[in-house]
Amino acid sequence: MSLFNKVVVKTLPLVPKPVVRYFSKRYIAGEYLPEAVKVVQHLNGIGCMATMDVLGESVTEKDLAGNMLTECQNVLTGIHNEKLDSNLSIKLTQLGLDIDYDFTLKNVRDIVEHARSLDNFVRIDMEDSSTTDKTLSIYKTLREEFPNVGVAVQSYLRRTENDVKDLVKEHSNFRMCKGIYVEPEKIAFKKREEINASFLRLIEIIFEAGSYVGIATHDDDLITGSYRLIEKYNLKPEQYEFQMLLGVRHEMRDRILRDGHRMRIYVPFGTYWYQYSVRRLKENPKMAGTMAKAILFRNKGK
Ligand SMILES: Cc1cc2nc3c(=O)[nH]c(=O)nc-3n(C[C@H](O)[C@H](O)[C@H](O)COP(=O)(O)OP(=O)(O)OC[C@H]3O[C@@H](n4cnc5c(N)ncnc54)[C@H](O)[C@@H]3O)c2cc1C
Repeated sequence: MSLFNKVVVKTLPLVPKPVVRYFSKRYIAGEYLPEAVKVVQHLNGIGCMATMDVLGESVTEKDLAGNMLTECQNVLTGIHNEKLDSNLSIKLTQLGLDIDYDFTLKNVRDIVEHARSLDNFVRIDMEDSSTTDKTLSIYKTLREEFPNVGVAVQSYLRRTENDVKDLVKEHSNFRMCKGIYVEPEKIAFKKREEINASFLRLIEIIFEAGSYVGIATHDDDLITGSYRLIEKYNLKPEQYEFQMLLGVRHEMRDRILRDGHRMRIYVPFGTYWYQYSVRRLKENPKMAGTMAKAILFRNKGK
C-alpha cells in the first residue's frame, strides 16, 4: 500500500459523507428495496444468483431489532413477488444479539420460518469473535428445525477447524470466508499464507463430508485452490457455489461463470450504508486513494 493510500485510509472518517457515498456506489445497491431489486434483476440477467443484505449491525434497542426483523421479512416477500433468484443474509447483532439471546433466537426463527414458507433460504453472517459461540448456538438450534438456514465461518479463526468438524456432522450449509474483523493473534491466524491454507483445508473437510459450501472470496489463489478441490472430489456445480461482494472484481466473477460454476453476489442495501462503505474502502486502499485524489485535485486545470 502506498504511503498516500495509507494516509487516506487512516483519515477516512474525516471524508464528507456525500463523497464516501459517491465512491462506494459500486458496493451498495441503494438505500431502499426497489433499488436493490433492480440490481438483483440485473445480476440474475447475467447469470448470477444473489443474497440480499439489509445493512445494519450492533443494534442496542429492541424496537430497532424489531424493525430489522420486519425489513428482513419484507425482503423475503419482495424476492418472492419479483421472482428473483436470491436468498437473504442476516447479521445477528442487527436482530438483538447484543441485547438478549432468546429475543434474537425468536427473531431469527421468525425470519427463517417466513423464508421456509416462501421456499427460500437464510444465511447467517459471522461477526466478530465475541459473537461466534452465540451465533453457532443459534444456528445449530434452528438447523435442527429448519433445512433452509446456513452459517458463515471464518478461516482466520484458529477455532474454526473444530467448529467445522463439529458442524459437518449435521450436514451444515456453510459460507467459507477469510474473516473481516480485527482479531488478536492468540485466536486468529495473521499471515495471509496461514489464513489461505486454513481456508482450503476447511473447504476440503466440508467437501469430504458431503456438505454444501459457498466459497466466498476474490483471492486468485483461493479460487485456483478451490477449483483443484472441486476436481479432486468430482463435484457437480449444484454441490457448491462461489460468492463475491457486489462491485468487486467483475472480470473474475465473469471468468468463474464462464468456467461453468455458480456465482452468488452479496447485495447490501439500506440506510445504514456509511459504516459498510468505509469498511469496503479500507479494504481497497487503491479506491480510497482515487477518492482522495479526486477531492484534492478536482479544480486542477480550471
Ligand atoms: C459473499 C461474501 C460474504 C462475506 N461474509 C462475511 C462474513 O459473514 N463474515 C466475515 O467476517 N467476512 C465476510 N466476508 C468478507 C471476507 O471475510 C473477506 O474479508 C473479504 O472477502 C476479503 O477477502 P478475500 O478472500 O476476497 O481476499 P483478499 O486478499 O482480501 O482480496 C483478494 C483481492 O480481491 C480484491 N478485493 C478484495 N476486496 C475488495 C474490495 N472491497 N474492493 C475492491 N477489490 C477488492 C483485491 O484485488 C484483492 O487483492 C464476506 C465476503 C464475501 C465475498
